Amino acid sequence: MSARKARIPRRLREQVAKQAGGCCGYCRTPARITGFRLSIEHIVPEARGGKSVEENLCLSCHACNEFKGARVQGVDPVTGKRCRLWNPRRQKWTSHFCWSDDGTEVVGLTACGRATVGALQLNRVELVGARWLWVQVGWWPPEE
Ligand SMILES: [Zn+2]
Repeated sequence: MSARKARIPRRLREQVAKQAGGCCGYCRTPARITGFRLSIEHIVPEARGGKSVEENLCLSCHACNEFKGARVQGVDPVTGKRCRLWNPRRQKWTSHFCWSDDGTEVVGLTACGRATVGALQLNRVELVGARWLWVQVGWWPPEE
């Protein structure tokens, strides 16, 4: 994306990070486990007119942010229909997703959840491998 991105004031960044408890809003990965800094993501992308205001920002890991890009929709693999991606500000994670029995994969419970799992690749191979290790040491899945 070549469009110039608005700078997000530090105080707003810190506020969004605090609200998210230091975890990616989508895949729930906490920075304290990975050691990687999370970024601030525009739920409605700037390329689609999304503003840099609290209700349009969430904390996101680099991979979720990259896969989401300028998307606002995904495809539900069950129905083949397009639907809006899950919104971490307006929708509850546990209403649309749960963890697989072994705790390593995100399962979409609704059309919106399934489309988001696919679009953001919430079960990317590297992450599933890491979650497996976290399960072994009792760090995963996160409690709701
Ligand atoms: Zn993520």
